[in-house]
Amino acid sequence: MTLRELEQSVETLSGVGKAAAARLARLGVYSIADLLVRFPRDYDDRTEARPFRDWAAGRVNTVARVAAHEWFGYGRMRTLKLVLEDGSARAVVPCFNRPFLADRHPEGSQVKVLGSFAPKFGELQGPGAILEPADEGEGPSSGILPVYALTEGLAQASIRSFVARALSMYGDRLEDELPPPLRERHGLLPASKALRGLHFPESRAALEEARRSLAWAELFFFQLLVRKRVAARRERPVERRPFAGELKRRLLERLPFEPTADQLKVVAEIEADLASPVPMARLLQGDVGSGKTLVAFLAALDVIESGGQVAVMAPTELLARQHAESAARLLEPVGARLAFLSGNARDSARRPLLEALASGQVDLVIGTQALFSEDVAYRNLSLVVVDEQHRFGVVQRAALARKGRSPDLLLMSATPIPRTLALTVYGDLSVSVIRTLPPGRTPVATHLARMGNESKVYDFVRRELEAGRQAYFVYPAIEGDGDSELKDAVAMRERLALEIYPDRKVGIVHSRVGDAEKRETMEAFRSGSLDVLVATSVVEVGVDVPNATCMVIEHAECFGLAALHQLRGRVGRSSLASYCFLVYAAPLAEDSKRRLMALKESGDGFELAEEDLRIRGPGDLVGTAQSGAFRLAVADPIRDAALLEEARAEAAAIVDADPNLLRSEHAALRGVVASGGGLRGERASRS
Ligand code: ADP
Ligand code: MG
Repeated sequence: MTLRELEQSVETLSGVGKAAAARLARLGVYSIADLLVRFPRDYDDRTEARPFRDWAAGRVNTVARVAAHEWFGYGRMRTLKLVLEDGSARAVVPCFNRPFLADRHPEGSQVKVLGSFAPKFGELQGPGAILEPADEGEGPSSGILPVYALTEGLAQASIRSFVARALSMYGDRLEDELPPPLRERHGLLPASKALRGLHFPESRAALEEARRSLAWAELFFFQLLVRKRVAARRERPVERRPFAGELKRRLLERLPFEPTADQLKVVAEIEADLASPVPMARLLQGDVGSGKTLVAFLAALDVIESGGQVAVMAPTELLARQHAESAARLLEPVGARLAFLSGNARDSARRPLLEALASGQVDLVIGTQALFSEDVAYRNLSLVVVDEQHRFGVVQRAALARKGRSPDLLLMSATPIPRTLALTVYGDLSVSVIRTLPPGRTPVATHLARMGNESKVYDFVRRELEAGRQAYFVYPAIEGDGDSELKDAVAMRERLALEIYPDRKVGIVHSRVGDAEKRETMEAFRSGSLDVLVATSVVEVGVDVPNATCMVIEHAECFGLAALHQLRGRVGRSSLASYCFLVYAAPLAEDSKRRLMALKESGDGFELAEEDLRIRGPGDLVGTAQSGAFRLAVADPIRDAALLEEARAEAAAIVDADPNLLRSEHAALRGVVASGGGLRGERASRS
């Protein structure tokens, strides 16, 4: 049987009673298979020796000689202190309530020592150290123990023993789901060995080999599913109606500028997709201000001309509204019928709009997630544009496909998603990139300022305001709680308006400001009747006010690199010289310092995204990936990028040769695909 088929209840394991089973159920573990795919979250690694002298580098793992027994205190409080020496240094282990340890570790004997040590009372102390008698000449303790995520009432040792029992009962009988030729070609362990190696590795190398084997299989099954989906789509081709590009031409004629070569290249890539019978799934990456909106609009006009409907989804109401305004400016004059669907539209306004969408009287609708709510029906939804939404994964795509037959999909992002991640989240995306910004933009000069010196920044901004420019001031919090040391937007708005720039108009937007007021304020800022806009990160994505030349971010240390880059992208949107000031509270943590320095040194979103990945590690992004339908249990799409490529190529070859997996050697694969493929995803959802 295969791992997936171990459906027996965990209660069938000896040692697992009703109570333990109930606690395991709380962890989502019902069957033996569930238990075995709950991989350790960490390992207690004793493979690395560390002498006393290096106590500061981590947990000591050494063999020492018991140099002396010392006693302190009186009567029942009399306490043994073992004085130990390992050749690097001398250390002591106070043995509270354990006088019997004197007999177990006589003076002159050898002892294995494992634990944290630190200087105290002039000596190196390790009160919690674990001691085991050792033979003369024996090395420090070794081995790697799994560390599982726990739930109340289940000890680490219990889970370890349940897993060990499950492995000894079923491990040797486990069959592989991967075809043997694949396993051999890529040097992978059989399933039983890989499972054992992941739970109870004999060495770091064995652990890595086990992990690699399981990750490979996991990625392979995922890619197999994706491929099958693509193959299925090819079997149900979309009907394409020709378009002459007339609407697009009209828009191009009306533009006050020339599209860049990159913009035109991407439009051509999209048009090639729109001419193919396979629905488009394309990711458009381009730094902030690179002009992605225009590309989307040009593509939309092609689709509208061929009789289709287009939906443009933005992450926030504010951005959706801004897109709606540019659409009104650019698309309405060439004949497109537009609509705006807001999440909080009242029913009376909503109903006629929904009717217009369902009957095809609207060509292009702009909005937030609301575009895909239950009650929204389209007559002929043919293209969906999703702006700045990285969580738009497999699940959302499936929901969307239900709205139209198989609408073409264009995802747009200023935060470059690494290719491997894109493949995991979306499976089958093609990628287009806009590398160059429209001509005439000057790079934003970025400066760091320590809090305490911010008056210099305020003075600089004052001169810009006097020259007729505008400025953003961004804060991490809307309102302080009184005793917090953080500057917040509400309090700073007061200070900026009353003390710092008393002769200027200062407005504020944040998530608690009502929509109508937010809109009014943004409009006032855009039209120049406000000089300063105080905000939280709501202005992060996409807001476009070319006359704003200063971005002051206070407590810059509180923002992530991607957010900072996005915020900075709010300025430098014209040929005016622009400035970004990162005001930070000292002292800076190490990775905050790296973030701010990276931002100062680079204006390139792609470079910054990579640096971000290095600073944070892939964890956060993987979190994004896992919010999709498919949760990875072992593999990490970034760390395992090379495996993903191998697995992808093998999956493609198999599906191309045998699209329905009918060959006998693919029987096991057919089973996996039918079960949904994941090791963990569909199991977790059962609870
Ligand atoms: P993003 O890629 O960040 O979404 P936008 O689409 O908002 O960028 O474009 C930023 C600004 O650049 C807008 O004001 C837009 O009108 C302008 N723009 C777009 N393309 C060009 C171009 N080829 N030449 C000059 N300005 C352009
Ligand atoms: Mg944009």
